[in-house]
Amino acid sequence: MLENLTQQPPDKIIMLSGMFRADPRSEKIDLGVGVYKDANGNTPIMRAVKKAEQLLWDTETTKSYTALIGDGGFHKVMADLVLGDAVEAERLSFAHAPGGTGAIRQILELIKVASPDATVWMSDPTWPNHPAMVKGVGIPMRTYAYFDADTGAVNFDGMMADLAEAKAGDVVILHGCCHNPTGANLNETQWQQVADLLLEKEAIPFVDIAYQGFGDGLQKDAFGVRLLAEKCPEVLISASCSKNFGIYRERCGLVIAISRDSENAGLTQGMLSSLNRLNFSFPPDHGARLVTMVLSDPELRADWEAELEEVRTSMLGLRKKLADALRDETGSDRYGFIAEHRGMFSRLGLTEEQVTKLREDHGIYMIGDSRFNVAGLSEASIPKIAKAVVAVGG
Ligand code: PMP
Repeated sequence: MLENLTQQPPDKIIMLSGMFRADPRSEKIDLGVGVYKDANGNTPIMRAVKKAEQLLWDTETTKSYTALIGDGGFHKVMADLVLGDAVEAERLSFAHAPGGTGAIRQILELIKVASPDATVWMSDPTWPNHPAMVKGVGIPMRTYAYFDADTGAVNFDGMMADLAEAKAGDVVILHGCCHNPTGANLNETQWQQVADLLLEKEAIPFVDIAYQGFGDGLQKDAFGVRLLAEKCPEVLISASCSKNFGIYRERCGLVIAISRDSENAGLTQGMLSSLNRLNFSFPPDHGARLVTMVLSDPELRADWEAELEEVRTSMLGLRKKLADALRDETGSDRYGFIAEHRGMFSRLGLTEEQVTKLREDHGIYMIGDSRFNVAGLSEASIPKIAKAVVAVGG
């Protein structure tokens, strides 16, 4: 049986991490996988999360199963974090899933049963797991224009023109903030226009929010998702706690579905519960419990927000330093967009060959489309990177 399997293409990001680890050069620089790193290149456990873990060790009395959809306390704090008071609680349904990725998968399966004829739209480009999962679940997909490589900004006219073709019942994936891989984001007016267009087309927004707090701050990063929640009868949301709580390996993500009314919310809740049961039964609890403790305790929450703000501003500082260094090296402003972008990633706009040369000749690792992880930069490496980019013809 197993001999019938075909070789699967390796995940490019995971393959790049393997190449980086195998590279013996001590001066190598990893700008690949999307994990936050501090100035020393470490991915620390956040202070409040560590404190919550200690508290949990002292107080937890059982490791028995939680609920199929996860713990109600977790749903509540996350709904508050992501949505604020944008929508009535009775219209919400939840499913705790293994990571943001797990939440996306559950939403896609929900779409497949609720609306087998729907097309799922996604930005071009997007996080490669979006198309891979949509294909895996067997849902038709289309892309909408998103990025203007010449200016490094959102190609908003192109986006609106493409989305104008969405049919009633189609689902449109939007990055809540900190677009991966481009770092280019919608402004508030553009969010309004997208919301109006989706309403007019009766298309359903699916907001993937994996970096809340990494862009312009916890509240501003939620602007788009809250606006859609206020305006649209139905919204699907996948929220990841991997990045903003630094709990990548705990696999903590949440489906939040907004239905038209409480009756429909009950139906949605039932299906989400059943999908969890079919796919993995009970979700992992540890990460969600930590998130719930941090968000419910004023002291832990204040410390978490302060540390998240340090992370955010340090990435903004690194963005500005790289943009400045590239301005000095190139004598032009063509990399100015790096300082304008938000979140963990931007694309430099280099060719695959130039990215290969950066890796082979300079030990600088980034994804083939020239996406780099801002948190992988450091004060020490920025001048070297700027020189190398120019040396490969960037
Ligand atoms: N969505 C996007 C856009 C992402 O970049 C990521 C992480 N790379 C995720 C979702 C999910 O992350 P995780 O499964 O680790 O929570």
